[in-house]
Amino acid sequence: MTPETILLILIILSIANYGFDIVLEALNLKEGKKALPKEAQGIYETEKYDKSMEYQAVQTKFGFVSGGLSFIISILFLAFGGFGWLNSVLEPHIIDDAFRALAFFGILFIASDLMGIPFQLYSTFVIEEKFGFNKTTPKLFILDKLKGYGLGAILGGVLLYVLLFLLTSLGVQFWWVFWLVITLFMLFMNMFYTTLFMPLFNKLSPLEDGELRTAIEVYSKKVNFPLTNIFVIDGSKRSSKANAFFSGFGKKKKVVLYDTLIENHSIKELVAIFAHEVGHYKKKHIIGSLVSSILQTGAMLYIMSLFIFNENLSVALGANNLQLHLNLIAFTMLYTPISFITGILSNVVSRKNEFEADYFAIESTNPTDLPLALKKLSVDNLSNLQPHPTYVFFHYSHPPLLKRLEAMKR
Ligand SMILES: [Zn+2]
Repeated sequence: MTPETILLILIILSIANYGFDIVLEALNLKEGKKALPKEAQGIYETEKYDKSMEYQAVQTKFGFVSGGLSFIISILFLAFGGFGWLNSVLEPHIIDDAFRALAFFGILFIASDLMGIPFQLYSTFVIEEKFGFNKTTPKLFILDKLKGYGLGAILGGVLLYVLLFLLTSLGVQFWWVFWLVITLFMLFMNMFYTTLFMPLFNKLSPLEDGELRTAIEVYSKKVNFPLTNIFVIDGSKRSSKANAFFSGFGKKKKVVLYDTLIENHSIKELVAIFAHEVGHYKKKHIIGSLVSSILQTGAMLYIMSLFIFNENLSVALGANNLQLHLNLIAFTMLYTPISFITGILSNVVSRKNEFEADYFAIESTNPTDLPLALKKLSVDNLSNLQPHPTYVFFHYSHPPLLKRLEAMKR
């Protein structure tokens, strides 16, 4: 395939991708303007419902502007050989290929992040503020940015360096060695994310003794869940939105509750939410999604090995000869149709898992507790009560509230 054809394909892919997104967002926005469905009456008060619709509308319109701008910039950069140009600027200064690649990605990352900052500021300090969610201070915003850059530079830099090293020393055989490296990295992250990395951004503390802890312990014993770690995270530092999640496996498994969740829910509701998380563990969802992402990564690396040494990819991006880092970018773009499909599949599986975890929770607790907790969560977070089904199919990792309530009735 000639470089011109490759460039054309890359441009068509980005336009298709963006166009598809716009259509979905527009559909979803239109759907949200419909009157409250009968099943949803009584969950939201009219005032809250209006506010949730306004929140959805503001967010969608904001997405149109920020997404549109980043689409225009990236397509121009692509079409006019911006990637090749950046490489040629760096070439006289950094001869070593691997270090040039690191600088190349570093610059692209920082540039795109800097362009995103005005939008992040607007989203946090205008939109979230207006709807009463924002708790982030400007100081925290800056600290988060700096820590994020530092962590990204270390983790991303090391992985990228290893990848480039393997590419140059092993040729096409790189894929399975790097797969091994990435797999170890994913396992490591899964086990230590909450102990090593989360504390950089949040405070995690063991759930204190008291009524809630006792209730959770009683429940754990009842369902034979080896309770080792329940942590509370200070999510209230950034937002009043609430959440809970399960992380790690084996001895490292952990249930993490947001302080905002504890604040707004009764003990019974919290136990039901905890039960939902235990459901994910009992139904092997955690291990399942880890295995599936390891397999997906392997497949992607193998497909990458078929393309990564093709000089025409670099030329398509504006270089004169093979540059592995340019090929990485071109490959990522060429891979979007496949990642689009795997993304849909993992959302389908994830939604099925949510139903299963809900079901586990209502089987093992008072069956009205979880529905009540989910309704409250939905209202507090101003969630969209009636997203468009097509939008849900492509984008939602959790089923919408009404579907979950309906499923729990059966
Ligand atoms: Zn869940």
